[in-house]
Amino acid sequence: MHSQHCGIWKEIIVGAILSKLAAKGDPVKTRHDSSGKRRNRRVSFSFHGGMQSLINALHNEVGDDNVKLGTEVLSLACTFDGVPALGRWSISVDSKDSGDKDLASNQTFDAVIMTAPLSNVRRMKFTKGGAPVVLDFLPKMDYLPLSLMVTAFKKDDVKKPLEGFGVLIPYKEQQKHGLKTLGTLFSSMMFPDRAPDDQYLYTTFVGGSHNRDLAGAPTSILKQLVTSDLKKLLGVEGQPTFVKHVYWGNAFPLYGHDYSSVLEAIEKMEKNLPGFFYAGNNKDGLAVGSVIASGSKAADLAISYLESHTKHNNSH
Ligand SMILES: Cc1cc2nc3c(=O)[nH]c(=O)nc-3n(C[C@H](O)[C@H](O)[C@H](O)COP(=O)(O)OP(=O)(O)OC[C@H]3O[C@@H](n4cnc5c(N)ncnc54)[C@H](O)[C@@H]3O)c2cc1C
Repeated sequence: MHSQHCGIWKEIIVGAILSKLAAKGDPVKTRHDSSGKRRNRRVSFSFHGGMQSLINALHNEVGDDNVKLGTEVLSLACTFDGVPALGRWSISVDSKDSGDKDLASNQTFDAVIMTAPLSNVRRMKFTKGGAPVVLDFLPKMDYLPLSLMVTAFKKDDVKKPLEGFGVLIPYKEQQKHGLKTLGTLFSSMMFPDRAPDDQYLYTTFVGGSHNRDLAGAPTSILKQLVTSDLKKLLGVEGQPTFVKHVYWGNAFPLYGHDYSSVLEAIEKMEKNLPGFFYAGNNKDGLAVGSVIASGSKAADLAISYLESHTKHNNSH
């Protein structure tokens, strides 16, 4: 995952298809590790109601009062004076709710786990002991735009409904067959509860390194492109019964060839800022599982930091 390149979307589509194929008929694969213990390897998953269910469950667990939505972090100040201590961080935010601005400005924090993309972190203002901390050593990240088109067609209108979990269309094949889309997941085959019984639901990706401009095309154009490609691939006839378009301006970070320099810059930022930890897909890989592991690792580091400072304070 770390050798990021322009075909990054392929990993997402292929990953979803391959993991589903691997799981076929056996959603939880069991394998034996070197110690002979049986280990469950869940290769593909979602939730009833989609991935948002995970976020909603976390939100409920943390509690409504402890989550601030629609709130942009503008600046972070660390009152560091050389002596390890807790409660050194304060954060200023731009919130749609004016009450939250006051709340944040009156509060101090022991540690910060940052998961915003690096391009956003570069725009935040940091101070340490009152002096500005310039983070211009953070690389200017490039992000790949992507449009996601969710369409549904009546089963009767799909003349060649392929059995499987999706198609990936390499650039050469796009050129050869006049196709414009990157690939399509057969969503209702993976998750049958996502569409009425008489319909197929498809998720089609548009954009990528060769078609950057297409990613930003209006819904009406993308609807035509997707319908035309699905006609060639699956023999769909007529128009979709349902269309949902989601545009991701910064869908995937592209680390270029020098990924280690990105990691070094993140490490330098964390070293410069006591009690500051960075996690997310700009650091540890794109897949949802990698991002969760990244956040968990940062939380462990933050806990160790807090424990060491608590011990230090108790011994003085
Ligand atoms: C279209 C698409 C399909 C994908 N499909 C799959 C898939 O099938 N399987 C898979 O494993 N992965 C998939 N991925 C990848 C995966 O979803 C992402 O890599 C992962 O969700 C990124 O999580 P993150 O928390 O690192 O970053 P993000 O989810 O980008 O979160 C960063 C957050 O920081 C917030 N933020 C930015 N600036 C500020 C600020 N100043 N103040 C406060 N908040 C700020 C943003 O609003 C955002 O909510 C897909 C991604 C895309 C775009």
